[in-house]
Amino acid sequence: MDAAIKAILIAEGSAEIDLELLGSPSALASKSTAGPGAGVASFFFESCGHRVRLDAVKDPEALLKVRRLSLHQPSQGAADVGVHAVDAPQSQQEEGWKGDVKAYNSLSLSKPPATSATTISAIQSPIEPVSKGSRSETDEVAIFYGGRELVRGRIEPALIHCPGQAYITMSESCVFDCAFCPVPRLAGRTKSTEEIVEMVDCAYRTGELRAVAITSGIERSPEEEVTRACAVVKSLTKYNVPIGVSVYPTSDSSLRLRAAGAVEVKYNVETMDRGIFERACADMDLDFVLASLEEAVAIFGRNRVFSNFIIGLGESDETVKSGVRELAGLGVIPILRALNFHPLRPDLKNTCPDARRPDANRLLRLAQFEREVLDAHGLRADVSETMCLPCGGCDLVPHRDV
Ligand code: SF4
Repeated sequence: MDAAIKAILIAEGSAEIDLELLGSPSALASKSTAGPGAGVASFFFESCGHRVRLDAVKDPEALLKVRRLSLHQPSQGAADVGVHAVDAPQSQQEEGWKGDVKAYNSLSLSKPPATSATTISAIQSPIEPVSKGSRSETDEVAIFYGGRELVRGRIEPALIHCPGQAYITMSESCVFDCAFCPVPRLAGRTKSTEEIVEMVDCAYRTGELRAVAITSGIERSPEEEVTRACAVVKSLTKYNVPIGVSVYPTSDSSLRLRAAGAVEVKYNVETMDRGIFERACADMDLDFVLASLEEAVAIFGRNRVFSNFIIGLGESDETVKSGVRELAGLGVIPILRALNFHPLRPDLKNTCPDARRPDANRLLRLAQFEREVLDAHGLRADVSETMCLPCGGCDLVPHRDV
Protein backbone atom coordinates (compact mmCIF):
# COMPACT_ATOMS: atom_id res chain seq x y z
CA MET A 1 0.00 0.00 0.00
CA ASP A 2 1.40 3.35 -0.98
CA ALA A 3 0.08 6.82 -0.15
CA ALA A 4 -2.18 7.00 -3.22
CA ILE A 5 -3.87 3.70 -2.37
CA LYS A 6 -4.18 4.65 1.29
CA ALA A 7 -5.78 7.93 0.23
CA ILE A 8 -8.44 6.03 -1.71
CA LEU A 9 -9.12 3.77 1.28
CA ILE A 10 -9.39 6.72 3.69
CA ALA A 11 -11.64 8.63 1.30
CA GLU A 12 -13.99 5.65 1.01
CA GLY A 13 -13.77 5.07 4.76
CA SER A 14 -15.65 1.79 5.01
CA ALA A 15 -15.48 -1.69 3.58
CA GLU A 16 -17.72 -4.68 3.39
CA ILE A 17 -16.09 -7.48 5.35
CA ASP A 18 -17.16 -10.85 6.63
CA LEU A 19 -16.98 -10.56 10.41
CA GLU A 20 -15.44 -14.03 10.50
CA LEU A 21 -12.41 -12.54 8.76
CA LEU A 22 -11.86 -10.55 11.92
CA GLY A 23 -11.53 -13.75 13.94
CA SER A 24 -13.00 -12.89 17.31
CA PRO A 25 -14.75 -9.57 16.61
CA SER A 26 -14.32 -8.49 20.21
CA ALA A 27 -10.58 -9.09 19.97
CA LEU A 28 -9.89 -7.68 16.53
CA ALA A 29 -12.52 -5.12 15.67
CA SER A 30 -12.32 -1.80 17.42
CA LYS A 31 -15.26 0.32 18.48
CA SER A 32 -14.26 3.90 19.07
CA THR A 33 -15.80 5.68 22.04
CA ALA A 34 -14.47 9.17 21.40
CA GLY A 35 -14.53 11.81 18.73
CA PRO A 36 -16.19 11.82 15.33
CA GLY A 37 -15.81 8.05 14.83
CA ALA A 38 -17.37 7.11 18.15
CA GLY A 39 -19.68 4.13 18.24
CA VAL A 40 -18.61 2.67 14.90
CA ALA A 41 -17.11 -0.82 14.57
CA SER A 42 -13.94 -0.82 12.53
CA PHE A 43 -10.89 -2.87 11.67
CA PHE A 44 -7.25 -2.25 10.80
CA PHE A 45 -5.62 -3.26 7.53
CA GLU A 46 -1.84 -3.30 7.20
CA SER A 47 0.21 -3.51 4.04
CA CYS A 48 3.93 -2.86 3.47
CA GLY A 49 4.27 -1.05 6.81
CA HIS A 50 1.28 1.24 6.19
CA ARG A 51 -1.93 0.99 8.16
CA VAL A 52 -5.50 2.12 7.58
CA ARG A 53 -8.60 1.86 9.69
CA LEU A 54 -11.88 1.18 7.91
CA ASP A 55 -15.41 1.03 9.23
CA ALA A 56 -16.76 -2.51 8.92
CA VAL A 57 -20.04 -2.57 7.01
CA LYS A 58 -22.28 -5.36 5.77
CA ASP A 59 -23.42 -3.37 2.74
CA PRO A 60 -23.22 -5.52 -0.43
CA GLU A 61 -23.15 -2.25 -2.41
CA ALA A 62 -19.97 -1.06 -0.65
CA LEU A 63 -17.25 -0.01 -3.11
CA LEU A 64 -14.55 -1.56 -0.93
CA LYS A 65 -14.76 -5.26 -0.19
CA VAL A 66 -12.28 -7.35 1.80
CA ARG A 67 -11.67 -10.94 0.77
CA ARG A 68 -9.32 -13.54 2.15
CA LEU A 69 -6.79 -15.02 -0.26
CA SER A 70 -6.07 -18.70 -0.38
CA LEU A 71 -2.50 -19.97 -0.25
CA HIS A 72 -2.67 -20.62 -3.99
CA GLN A 73 -3.75 -17.15 -5.03
CA PRO A 74 -1.15 -15.58 -7.35
CA SER A 75 0.16 -12.20 -6.38
CA GLN A 76 -1.12 -8.99 -7.93
CA GLY A 77 0.22 -8.46 -11.40
CA ALA A 78 0.98 -12.17 -11.98
CA ALA A 79 -1.91 -12.30 -14.40
CA ASP A 80 -1.42 -15.81 -15.66
CA VAL A 81 -3.34 -18.09 -13.33
CA GLY A 82 -6.95 -17.42 -12.48
CA VAL A 83 -6.60 -13.70 -12.91
CA HIS A 84 -8.59 -11.68 -15.43
CA ALA A 85 -7.15 -8.67 -17.16
CA VAL A 86 -9.59 -5.79 -16.83
CA ASP A 87 -10.29 -2.65 -18.80
CA ALA A 88 -8.86 0.73 -17.97
CA PRO A 89 -10.78 2.65 -15.28
CA GLN A 90 -12.26 5.11 -17.79
CA SER A 91 -14.16 2.35 -19.52
CA GLN A 92 -15.36 1.05 -16.17
CA GLN A 93 -16.75 4.49 -15.49
CA GLU A 94 -18.66 4.33 -18.76
CA GLU A 95 -20.07 1.02 -17.61
CA GLY A 96 -21.23 2.53 -14.33
CA TRP A 97 -18.15 1.95 -12.20
CA LYS A 98 -18.63 4.12 -9.10
CA GLY A 99 -15.04 4.46 -7.90
CA ASP A 100 -12.91 7.61 -7.87
CA VAL A 101 -11.63 7.42 -11.44
CA LYS A 102 -9.25 10.38 -11.05
CA ALA A 103 -7.60 8.81 -8.02
CA TYR A 104 -7.54 5.38 -9.62
CA ASN A 105 -6.01 6.74 -12.81
CA SER A 106 -3.22 8.35 -10.85
CA LEU A 107 -2.48 4.87 -9.48
CA SER A 108 -2.39 3.38 -12.95
CA LEU A 109 0.22 5.92 -14.01
CA SER A 110 2.58 4.99 -11.21
CA LYS A 111 1.66 1.32 -10.84
CA PRO A 112 1.35 -0.48 -14.18
CA PRO A 113 0.08 -3.76 -12.62
CA ALA A 114 -3.13 -1.96 -11.66
CA THR A 115 -4.32 -2.19 -15.24
CA SER A 116 -4.13 -5.98 -15.07
CA ALA A 117 -5.48 -6.28 -11.55
CA THR A 118 -7.46 -9.21 -10.28
CA THR A 119 -11.21 -8.85 -10.46
CA ILE A 120 -13.33 -9.86 -7.51
CA SER A 121 -15.07 -12.50 -9.58
CA ALA A 122 -11.68 -13.98 -10.47
CA ILE A 123 -10.59 -14.18 -6.89
CA GLN A 124 -13.76 -15.73 -5.59
CA SER A 125 -13.27 -18.99 -7.43
CA PRO A 126 -9.82 -19.95 -6.14
CA ILE A 127 -10.51 -18.52 -2.72
CA GLU A 128 -11.15 -20.95 0.09
CA PRO A 129 -14.45 -20.56 1.86
CA VAL A 130 -13.99 -18.51 5.00
CA SER A 131 -14.77 -20.54 8.06
CA LYS A 132 -14.12 -20.16 11.71
CA GLY A 133 -10.77 -21.58 12.78
CA SER A 134 -9.19 -21.41 9.33
CA ARG A 135 -7.17 -18.27 10.02
CA SER A 136 -3.96 -20.24 10.13
CA GLU A 137 -4.22 -21.03 6.43
CA THR A 138 -3.21 -17.53 5.43
CA ASP A 139 -3.62 -14.12 6.98
CA GLU A 140 -3.47 -12.35 3.63
CA VAL A 141 -6.51 -10.51 2.38
CA ALA A 142 -7.18 -8.34 -0.65
CA ILE A 143 -9.24 -5.19 -0.76
CA PHE A 144 -11.28 -4.76 -3.91
CA TYR A 145 -12.37 -1.36 -5.15
CA GLY A 146 -15.46 -1.43 -7.31
CA GLY A 147 -14.72 -5.05 -8.14
CA ARG A 148 -11.03 -4.78 -8.95
CA GLU A 149 -8.16 -5.64 -6.66
CA LEU A 150 -6.59 -2.56 -5.14
CA VAL A 151 -4.20 -3.85 -2.51
CA ARG A 152 -3.17 -6.89 -0.49
CA GLY A 153 -2.22 -7.05 3.15
CA ARG A 154 -3.50 -8.39 6.45
CA ILE A 155 -6.07 -7.59 9.07
CA GLU A 156 -4.22 -6.26 12.08
CA PRO A 157 -5.47 -6.86 15.61
CA ALA A 158 -6.15 -3.87 17.83
CA LEU A 159 -5.04 -3.82 21.45
CA ILE A 160 -7.40 -1.27 23.00
CA HIS A 161 -8.85 0.81 20.17
CA CYS A 162 -5.78 0.55 17.93
CA PRO A 163 -2.72 -1.68 17.39
CA GLY A 164 0.03 -1.47 19.99
CA GLN A 165 -1.70 1.08 22.18
CA ALA A 166 -4.19 1.20 25.01
CA TYR A 167 -6.12 4.22 23.74
CA ILE A 168 -8.80 4.80 26.33
CA THR A 169 -11.62 7.31 26.60
CA MET A 170 -12.27 8.49 30.15
CA SER A 171 -15.59 10.33 29.77
CA GLU A 172 -17.86 9.15 26.96
CA SER A 173 -20.08 12.20 27.17
CA CYS A 174 -19.55 15.88 26.45
CA VAL A 175 -21.12 19.13 27.60
CA PHE A 176 -19.73 20.78 24.46
CA ASP A 177 -21.65 20.18 21.26
CA CYS A 178 -19.37 20.33 18.23
CA ALA A 179 -21.58 19.86 15.19
CA PHE A 180 -19.64 16.92 13.70
CA CYS A 181 -19.18 14.94 16.94
CA PRO A 182 -21.52 12.16 18.10
CA VAL A 183 -20.15 12.03 21.67
CA PRO A 184 -22.67 14.56 23.10
CA ARG A 185 -25.46 12.39 21.64
CA LEU A 186 -23.97 9.13 22.90
CA ALA A 187 -24.15 10.38 26.48
CA GLY A 188 -21.94 7.53 27.69
CA ARG A 189 -20.45 6.94 31.10
CA THR A 190 -17.19 7.97 32.75
CA LYS A 191 -14.61 5.32 33.62
CA SER A 192 -12.94 5.30 37.01
CA THR A 193 -9.15 5.43 37.33
CA GLU A 194 -9.21 1.88 38.71
CA GLU A 195 -11.13 0.66 35.68
CA ILE A 196 -8.66 2.31 33.30
CA VAL A 197 -5.68 0.83 35.16
CA GLU A 198 -7.29 -2.59 34.92
CA MET A 199 -7.72 -2.17 31.15
CA VAL A 200 -4.10 -1.10 30.71
CA ASP A 201 -2.99 -3.97 32.90
CA CYS A 202 -4.76 -6.45 30.61
CA ALA A 203 -3.14 -4.83 27.58
CA TYR A 204 0.28 -4.89 29.28
CA ARG A 205 -0.01 -8.60 29.96
CA THR A 206 -0.32 -9.31 26.22
CA GLY A 207 3.26 -8.12 25.76
CA GLU A 208 2.05 -5.89 22.90
CA LEU A 209 1.65 -2.60 24.78
CA ARG A 210 3.91 0.09 23.33
CA ALA A 211 2.05 3.21 24.45
CA VAL A 212 -0.92 4.49 26.39
CA ALA A 213 -3.20 7.22 25.11
CA ILE A 214 -5.90 8.89 27.17
CA THR A 215 -8.67 10.98 25.70
CA SER A 216 -11.97 12.28 26.95
CA GLY A 217 -15.17 14.11 26.27
CA ILE A 218 -16.16 16.63 28.92
CA GLU A 219 -18.51 15.19 31.51
CA ARG A 220 -18.85 18.43 33.49
CA SER A 221 -15.90 20.78 32.90
CA PRO A 222 -12.51 20.83 31.14
CA GLU A 223 -10.79 21.41 34.51
CA GLU A 224 -12.35 18.25 35.96
CA GLU A 225 -11.23 16.22 32.92
CA VAL A 226 -7.66 17.49 33.26
CA THR A 227 -7.67 16.56 36.95
CA ARG A 228 -9.05 13.14 36.04
CA ALA A 229 -6.43 12.71 33.30
CA CYS A 230 -3.59 13.64 35.68
CA ALA A 231 -4.74 11.03 38.20
CA VAL A 232 -5.00 8.41 35.45
CA VAL A 233 -1.56 9.24 34.04
CA LYS A 234 0.05 9.05 37.49
CA SER A 235 -1.50 5.61 37.97
CA LEU A 236 -0.14 4.37 34.66
CA THR A 237 3.50 5.50 34.76
CA LYS A 238 4.38 2.19 36.44
CA TYR A 239 3.97 0.47 33.06
CA ASN A 240 6.95 2.41 31.77
CA VAL A 241 5.51 3.13 28.33
CA PRO A 242 5.00 6.58 26.82
CA ILE A 243 1.69 8.20 27.76
CA GLY A 244 -0.11 10.77 25.61
CA VAL A 245 -3.20 12.76 26.51
CA SER A 246 -5.80 14.44 24.32
CA VAL A 247 -8.24 16.72 26.15
CA TYR A 248 -9.63 20.22 25.86
CA PRO A 249 -6.90 22.43 27.39
CA THR A 250 -7.13 24.47 30.55
CA SER A 251 -4.89 27.31 31.74
CA ASP A 252 -2.50 24.86 33.42
CA SER A 253 -3.24 21.56 31.69
CA SER A 254 0.17 21.22 30.01
CA LEU A 255 2.10 21.87 33.21
CA ARG A 256 -0.06 19.45 35.19
CA LEU A 257 -0.09 16.69 32.59
CA ARG A 258 3.68 16.91 32.11
CA ALA A 259 4.21 16.78 35.89
CA ALA A 260 1.91 13.74 36.08
CA GLY A 261 4.07 11.87 33.56
CA ALA A 262 2.54 12.47 30.12
CA VAL A 263 5.08 12.88 27.31
CA GLU A 264 2.80 14.12 24.53
CA VAL A 265 -0.44 16.10 24.26
CA LYS A 266 -3.07 16.75 21.63
CA TYR A 267 -5.33 19.80 21.82
CA ASN A 268 -7.62 19.85 18.81
CA VAL A 269 -8.29 22.98 16.78
CA GLU A 270 -10.82 20.93 14.73
CA THR A 271 -10.72 23.56 11.94
CA MET A 272 -8.63 26.62 11.18
CA ASP A 273 -11.49 28.24 9.28
CA ARG A 274 -12.69 30.75 11.86
CA GLY A 275 -16.14 31.16 10.32
CA ILE A 276 -16.73 27.40 10.39
CA PHE A 277 -15.20 27.12 13.85
CA GLU A 278 -17.66 29.68 15.26
CA ARG A 279 -20.60 27.75 13.87
CA ALA A 280 -19.42 24.17 14.40
CA CYS A 281 -17.46 24.51 17.66
CA ALA A 282 -19.42 27.25 19.38
CA ASP A 283 -18.47 26.07 22.90
CA MET A 284 -14.74 26.20 22.17
CA ASP A 285 -12.30 29.09 21.93
CA LEU A 286 -9.88 28.77 19.01
CA ASP A 287 -7.53 31.48 20.25
CA PHE A 288 -7.31 29.76 23.63
CA VAL A 289 -6.60 26.39 21.99
CA LEU A 290 -3.86 27.96 19.87
CA ALA A 291 -2.30 29.70 22.87
CA SER A 292 -2.48 26.40 24.80
CA LEU A 293 -0.77 24.58 21.93
CA GLU A 294 2.04 27.13 21.88
CA GLU A 295 2.53 26.76 25.61
CA ALA A 296 2.41 22.97 25.29
CA VAL A 297 5.32 23.04 22.83
CA ALA A 298 7.36 25.00 25.40
CA ILE A 299 6.58 22.35 28.02
CA PHE A 300 6.54 19.07 26.05
CA GLY A 301 8.91 20.03 23.26
CA ARG A 302 8.71 20.09 19.47
CA ASN A 303 7.33 16.94 17.81
CA ARG A 304 5.40 16.21 21.01
CA VAL A 305 2.32 18.39 20.51
CA PHE A 306 -0.44 17.60 18.01
CA SER A 307 -3.78 18.96 16.89
CA ASN A 308 -6.61 17.36 14.91
CA PHE A 309 -7.66 19.45 11.92
CA ILE A 310 -10.77 18.19 10.14
CA ILE A 311 -10.77 18.27 6.34
CA GLY A 312 -14.19 18.52 4.73
CA LEU A 313 -16.23 20.96 6.83
CA GLY A 314 -16.41 23.33 3.86
CA GLU A 315 -13.02 25.01 4.28
CA SER A 316 -10.89 25.84 1.25
CA ASP A 317 -7.50 24.31 0.52
CA GLU A 318 -5.98 27.75 1.05
CA THR A 319 -7.43 27.89 4.57
CA VAL A 320 -6.05 24.45 5.30
CA LYS A 321 -2.64 25.45 4.01
CA SER A 322 -2.46 28.66 6.02
CA GLY A 323 -3.68 26.75 9.08
CA VAL A 324 -1.00 24.09 8.62
CA ARG A 325 1.62 26.82 8.29
CA GLU A 326 0.35 28.56 11.42
CA LEU A 327 0.33 25.38 13.51
CA ALA A 328 3.74 24.25 12.28
CA GLY A 329 5.04 27.74 13.02
CA LEU A 330 4.07 27.12 16.65
CA GLY A 331 5.92 23.78 16.59
CA VAL A 332 2.65 21.82 16.48
CA ILE A 333 2.07 18.88 14.16
CA PRO A 334 -1.41 19.07 12.59
CA ILE A 335 -3.29 15.81 12.03
CA LEU A 336 -5.37 16.28 8.88
CA ARG A 337 -8.44 14.15 9.51
CA ALA A 338 -11.06 13.40 6.87
CA LEU A 339 -14.53 14.45 7.95
CA ASN A 340 -16.63 11.55 9.15
CA PHE A 341 -20.38 11.89 8.74
CA HIS A 342 -21.90 10.21 11.78
CA PRO A 343 -25.52 9.03 11.76
CA LEU A 344 -26.02 10.71 15.14
CA ARG A 345 -25.17 14.10 13.60
CA PRO A 346 -27.58 14.57 10.69
CA ASP A 347 -27.69 18.23 11.76
CA LEU A 348 -24.10 18.81 10.58
CA LYS A 349 -25.37 19.87 7.16
CA ASN A 350 -27.36 22.68 8.81
CA THR A 351 -24.24 24.06 10.47
CA CYS A 352 -21.84 23.31 7.64
CA PRO A 353 -23.85 23.15 4.39
CA ASP A 354 -20.70 22.61 2.29
CA ALA A 355 -19.48 19.70 4.38
CA ARG A 356 -18.35 16.68 2.38
CA ARG A 357 -15.82 13.93 2.91
CA PRO A 358 -12.65 14.84 1.01
CA ASP A 359 -11.72 12.76 -2.01
CA ALA A 360 -8.45 10.87 -2.31
CA ASN A 361 -6.68 13.49 -4.39
CA ARG A 362 -7.45 16.26 -1.91
CA LEU A 363 -6.24 14.14 0.99
CA LEU A 364 -3.04 13.26 -0.82
CA ARG A 365 -2.38 16.81 -1.98
CA LEU A 366 -2.85 18.28 1.49
CA ALA A 367 -0.78 15.59 3.17
CA GLN A 368 2.08 16.24 0.74
CA PHE A 369 1.76 19.96 1.45
CA GLU A 370 1.91 19.31 5.18
CA ARG A 371 5.00 17.18 4.75
CA GLU A 372 6.74 20.08 2.96
CA VAL A 373 5.74 22.54 5.69
CA LEU A 374 6.87 20.22 8.49
CA ASP A 375 10.19 19.73 6.72
CA ALA A 376 10.60 23.50 6.37
CA HIS A 377 10.04 23.85 10.13
CA GLY A 378 12.27 20.92 11.06
CA LEU A 379 9.34 18.96 12.50
CA ARG A 380 8.94 15.16 12.23
CA ALA A 381 5.61 13.36 12.45
CA ASP A 382 7.27 9.95 12.69
CA VAL A 383 8.96 10.41 16.06
CA SER A 384 5.73 10.64 18.04
CA GLU A 385 5.09 7.70 20.32
CA THR A 386 1.44 7.95 21.31
CA MET A 387 -2.04 8.57 19.92
CA CYS A 388 -2.82 9.02 16.22
CA LEU A 389 0.52 9.65 14.51
CA PRO A 390 2.13 6.28 15.34
CA CYS A 391 -1.21 4.58 14.70
CA GLY A 392 -1.86 6.28 11.37
CA GLY A 393 -5.11 4.39 10.85
CA CYS A 394 -7.22 7.39 9.92
CA ASP A 395 -4.79 9.72 8.19
CA LEU A 396 -1.97 10.05 5.69
CA VAL A 397 0.87 10.65 8.13
CA PRO A 398 3.77 12.83 6.92
CA HIS A 399 7.11 11.00 7.06
CA ARG A 400 5.29 7.68 7.45
CA ASP A 401 2.94 7.63 4.45
CA VAL A 402 4.05 10.67 2.45
S1 SF4 B 1 -5.48 7.32 13.89
FE1 SF4 B 1 -6.19 7.91 15.95
S2 SF4 B 1 -8.45 7.89 15.85
FE2 SF4 B 1 -7.65 6.77 14.06
S3 SF4 B 1 -7.62 4.62 14.73
FE3 SF4 B 1 -5.60 5.43 15.10
S4 SF4 B 1 -5.62 6.14 17.20
FE4 SF4 B 1 -7.76 5.88 16.57
